[in-house]
Amino acid sequence: MNVVLSVAEMKEIAAKLRRAGETVALVPTMGALHEGHLALVREAARTSSRVVVSVFVNPTQFGPAEDFARYPRDIEGDLRKLGALKVDHVFAPDAASMYPPGGSETRVDLTRLPGHLCGLSRPHHFPGVATVVLKLFNICRPDAAVFGLKDYQQVRVIERMVADLDVPVRIVRHPTVREPDGLAMSSRNRYLSAEDRAKAPVIFATLKHLADAIARGERDAARLIELARGRISDAGGSVEYLAVADPDTLDDVAVADRPVLIAAAVRFGGTRLIDNVVAGG
Ligand code: AMP
Repeated sequence: MNVVLSVAEMKEIAAKLRRAGETVALVPTMGALHEGHLALVREAARTSSRVVVSVFVNPTQFGPAEDFARYPRDIEGDLRKLGALKVDHVFAPDAASMYPPGGSETRVDLTRLPGHLCGLSRPHHFPGVATVVLKLFNICRPDAAVFGLKDYQQVRVIERMVADLDVPVRIVRHPTVREPDGLAMSSRNRYLSAEDRAKAPVIFATLKHLADAIARGERDAARLIELARGRISDAGGSVEYLAVADPDTLDDVAVADRPVLIAAAVRFGGTRLIDNVVAGG
């Protein structure tokens, strides 16, 4: 496994792989890797002859009051975990190499998708994500890129960007990987106190409860949302949003008479966790 620190070197490697007729799958990550990330890497190895994993904590997708500085970083642990898998190149640039001094004038912004769910409280987030992912695509030139459905809105933003801008990369969706008690794996779970960690599975339990209610015939989104808010608050979580939405546009849905995305952001202590399920239909 080769570790690549510079953008120029990664571009050269990508060009060589293309000339050699290899197919390349990219797994973009911010490191602090857990089993969820590693499942994406295994999926990448199934789709392509070469696997590139990027590890880059992208400063432009964090707001000024967010956790960029204290976001967990563990490149040695990451390399150890990736070394046990079929990974050809780990691209781990520093911020100055991705964003040279003098700044950048260009960013990728989407008109509607970021105006929902996480985008409402994190206005910097999706322009930062879309821009860095397009840069990673241009540097690594993958045929396919694997993204996790835990970050459902991110998947939709990337899929839409790729469609709108004719980016020649196939986006592969991977299901959310969970702890045995249902909590979605996340690099941020390590911030949870033991007490909050014990409470946090209520998020997925509640989303599943709503999916079951829909399966039993409940259609009223407002009622579903109220039910969920009550359950999560009773368990000590503070709900930032709870939405029943169209799985493609992410627009709110009033009547769940077709497949819907049920998505939530919940804080336990200072830690913000997100999760979602698709239900109905
Ligand atoms: P991050 O390092 O948080 O930016 O995540 C990198 C990639 O891993 C993204 O595509 C995430 O959606 C994905 N990912 C993170 N956690 C999980 C999980 N629990 N299950 C599946 N994919 C995940």
